[in-house]
Amino acid sequence: MVKEYLVKGDVCVPGKVMVADGMTIRQVIEAAGGMADGKNFKAVQIGGPSGTLLCADQLDLSLDAKTLAPFGFRRGDSVITVLDEGRCIVDAVDRFMKQTQTDFCGKCVSCREGTRRITELFDALMNGSLNEDGFQLLLDIAEMVSVTGFCALGKGVYDTLKNAYQFFPEEFHAHMGGSCALCAADTRPPVEPGNIPYDRRRIVIDPSLCRGCSRCARSCHAEAIFGVIKSPFTIDQKKCVKCFTCMDLCAFGAIREEEIDG
Ligand code: SF4
Ligand code: SF4
Ligand code: SF4
Repeated sequence: MVKEYLVKGDVCVPGKVMVADGMTIRQVIEAAGGMADGKNFKAVQIGGPSGTLLCADQLDLSLDAKTLAPFGFRRGDSVITVLDEGRCIVDAVDRFMKQTQTDFCGKCVSCREGTRRITELFDALMNGSLNEDGFQLLLDIAEMVSVTGFCALGKGVYDTLKNAYQFFPEEFHAHMGGSCALCAADTRPPVEPGNIPYDRRRIVIDPSLCRGCSRCARSCHAEAIFGVIKSPFTIDQKKCVKCFTCMDLCAFGAIREEEIDG
């Protein structure tokens, strides 16, 4: 099976890449022209703002749900954001968290209020006024949102932060200490998460790929998916809140994100 991803960030040729079964993360980055400006790879976020953050240790793993499950893999909005060695991971995760707060649907109190508190604490971390206790609170709230959030968007919040802290603890501690050498040295525009503005995306089911298994409909908390078993299902765009839960679940790759009028 082949899946389309948008690869962006610090690669030579940002754009759409067709990812076939078995392709490694390194091969996906090479398909996007490799790392830009001769810089070394640092980290990659797969699946948009509340996706999965991985580092160089995972470069030769296959980009598939089974292989990456231990890292909290989530295909999400099919965007892969590549970061080079000059990027500050705290700044990148701050942007991912803020985008998640923009994207959430608001159904769950924990996600709605938790992501708001997370962005406030990240603001403090970025300006050097968050101490160790405050950072532990940030981790605890992100974990709480992941445990109690209904859909994959909320559940993915913690994995990005947890992985980033596990892989690059020194950068978080530099921010807690009030100074980050990477932030001071990197004068480039930041790599922003996401791709298509939220109100210009829609999630659709390809009738030629849908087997009518109903798994997506049973998982949609917005009750936006309809159909008859063994026939193609459809998504009611008025009800869909674009949480990507169904896209992550469909075993047949039948659900994709597309740009409205694009
Ligand atoms: S349904 Fe998902 S996106 Fe909406 S508030 Fe709950 S966890 Fe967040
Ligand atoms: S999970 Fe996939 S195959 Fe099953 S009904 Fe939904 S779109 Fe169709
Ligand atoms: S149709 Fe899919 S993306 Fe839309 S609300 Fe339901 S599960 Fe989420």
